[in-house]
Parts: sequence; C-alpha cells; structure tokens
Amino acid sequence: MSDVQTAPTSSYDVASIREQFPLLKTLVHGKPLVYLDNANTTQKPQRVLDTLWEYYTTYNSNIHRASYQIAERSTHEFEMGREKVRGFLNAKGVEEIIFVRNATEGINLVAQSFGRTFIGEGDEIIVSAMEHHANIVPWQMLCEEKGAILKVIPINDDGELLLDEYEKLITHRTKLVGIVHMSNALGTVNPVEEMIQTAHAHGVPVLVDGAQSAYHKVIDVQAMDCDFFVFSGHKLYGPTGIGVLYGKRKYLEAMPPWQGGGDMIATVSFEKTVYNELPNKFEAGTPHIEGAIGLGAAIDFLNETGMDRIAAYEHGLMEYGKQVLGNVPGLRMIGTAKEKASVFSFTLHNIHALDLGTLLDTRGIAIRTGQHCAHPVMQRFGVPATGRASLACYNTREEIDALARGLIRVSEILG
Ligand SMILES: *Cc1c(COP(=O)(O)O)cnc(C)c1O
Repeated sequence: MSDVQTAPTSSYDVASIREQFPLLKTLVHGKPLVYLDNANTTQKPQRVLDTLWEYYTTYNSNIHRASYQIAERSTHEFEMGREKVRGFLNAKGVEEIIFVRNATEGINLVAQSFGRTFIGEGDEIIVSAMEHHANIVPWQMLCEEKGAILKVIPINDDGELLLDEYEKLITHRTKLVGIVHMSNALGTVNPVEEMIQTAHAHGVPVLVDGAQSAYHKVIDVQAMDCDFFVFSGHKLYGPTGIGVLYGKRKYLEAMPPWQGGGDMIATVSFEKTVYNELPNKFEAGTPHIEGAIGLGAAIDFLNETGMDRIAAYEHGLMEYGKQVLGNVPGLRMIGTAKEKASVFSFTLHNIHALDLGTLLDTRGIAIRTGQHCAHPVMQRFGVPATGRASLACYNTREEIDALARGLIRVSEILG
C-alpha cells in the first residue's frame, strides 16, 4: 500500500512532531492509539501542557485589575496570547481579536450583537448547505426573533458550493453571508476569497467559520478580506474553552456589547454605564486566562513547525489516503471536491456507522461516526451517517494503512 507517489515531505519530521504529543503514546485495548478524529478535537503538544502547569503553579491570578507582580504577569501573558492570535491571523490590530469560548460562541456573538442591531424583518442572511450547526442555528434563532429570512447556497454531488446560485441569492435585502471555510463533514475547502468579493460588491459583510481551516491552512484575514472569522482553540492544538472571534474594527465598534458585567465597562453608576473599549467591550467577566495563554503556546508550536509545511504534509497524506481508501471494497467516499483537505467521510457497504466505529476502536483506531453536527449535509447525500477519519500534523501513512486494514476487516465481519 505504500508505493503511492505524492509530493516529497522529507523535510517534515513527523516522528519528532509525534514526540511532542504525549497522548499519542496511549494504548487502547492494548494497541497503539491511531487518532483520526482531529476534526473533532486535536491532541496537545507538551509545550501547551507545560504552559498550563506553569500558570497554575507559579502565577495564577486574575487579570486587568491587580497591582502585584504575579497579576501583572498573568495580564501580560494573557495579552501576549491575544497578540499571538493577531499575528497568526494577520489581523491589523489586537482590538480586533475577541476571546470567546469557541467558534460556536463567536458566531453567536455576531448573531446576537451585529444581528440584533443590523438585521430586521424581511432582511436576508445567506449560509451554505454544508454548514456546521454552529453556523445555522444562531441565524435561525435570529430569523425567528426578527422575522428575517435564511437562504441556503446549494451544493453539488461532489460537495462543492454552486457559486452561480450563490450570486443569485444575494439581493438588496441581504445583510450577512456566513460560510464555512473548510467543511468538517466533507473536507471541502470553499473559495472564500472569491465569495467575499462577490458579497462585498453588493455591500454585504461576510463571516467565515474557520473552525476547520485555522489548523490546516495559513490564514490571513486581511488578504481574505473577511469581516468576521471564528475558530476554536481546542482544534488548533490548544485548550478547550477558548476560542476567537476576529472582526473588522469598523464592525466591532458599531456593535453593542452582548453580555454585561465586569471588565467590559469603563464606568458604572445606576444612572449610566459607559462601555469599555475594544476588545474588552465583548469580554464580560473573568476570561479563560490559562486558555488564552495555552492557545498562545499552541500558536508558538504552529509557527515553529510552520503552518505552510504542515499544510503541505497533510496534503500529501490526504492524497495518499484517497488512493489507499479508494481500494477498500464497498467504501463510498462522501465529499469528493477538487479542493479538499484532511477529512475522509465515508460509508462502508451498508454497515451502521456506529458498528464501524466500535469495531475500529477494538483495533485502537479512533474515528468519528455519526452526522458531524451537519444534518443537512447527511440529508443532501442521502446517508443516515458516515464514518469520518480526519488528519492532523502528527498523523502518518502507517496510520492510514492501519485504517484501511481495519475497514477491510470490518467488511469481512459485517459486510
Ligand atoms: C467544530 C466546528 C465548529 C464548532 O466548534 P466548537 O468548538 O464546537 O464551537 C463549527 N464549525 C465547524 C466547521 C467545525 O468543524
């Protein structure tokens, strides 16, 4: 199975990368773990774990309010985390980086703040047929409240957006476009730059769901020209509970706060409260301090390894996986877009996805089975569920071979 020709990745030392991820040494049912559920969450490098440990053992303290040494340090490290995110996304300023819990909360913030302020009855919001529920439900809730209308860009049988249909959906009532950069259910990478240009030509701002793309591709929000971009720390080799909303300053400034409390105010009296400046205006209460610091450490890891090198390595791995999995009898790949990254979604004969997952688990192989928080995608392809193997910077060809062997064995048992 290993004779497939793909781009050389010799300069990329995957063994030394794996060394940095302690969890990858875990045994499952006595077998080495083959972790292929990265679209769900990724494992953490040692430096992220060390950073969390150091925070709690040497300078745990609340930020932005105390005048003693360890609190100055925690404030500094927290704000360094924000600066690292700014650099990672190539945002213009740190005031455009809002810390939230995850990508989901970032989208909800935009729906609640931008949406409630600027979207009214009869206005339209456009999303695509391959969105994660996180980029559907907050807009449905807003539409319900405001009497606005949600329109959906259709997809073809390969899992690609129909761009002509997209342009036709835009009207003078369109107030926002929300699109996923890279689909977690299909792996499709959408041409967001082009789609943003189209929307901007009609004066419509665009939110990009970068939950999948942020750890697979080099992101440059200025070059992309998106108006909002969200991602989750836990998929980017960082801690859970920390995520990011990037927004262009002009929008964030025009948007009201969505939660009230400490840290988001400048002055408070019972007569009048004056809100704080960006980014604090959107960060009420004590934030996930160690999360932001840990996310900064994850970004250090990505910068040191090289996001472009990771992308090239994963591309080679995906091309390899396409060929190897293509040889598994009875396997139907769901999502065959030309531009695709790091996700294999598939059915195997008529085997129930859950049985598939359980049998693979006995071999130490972790994949996701189910509907991947994307019910409309499953409906579009007429499948109740899929198995999904998704790649990260530490996966290997041997692991893909192990998956293929596992799938062939499952076919023999249940097919
Ligand atoms: C995972 C994911 C989300 C939601 O991420 P959370 O961390 O659960 O908020 C949104 N969109 C896509 C494409 C995802 O893969």
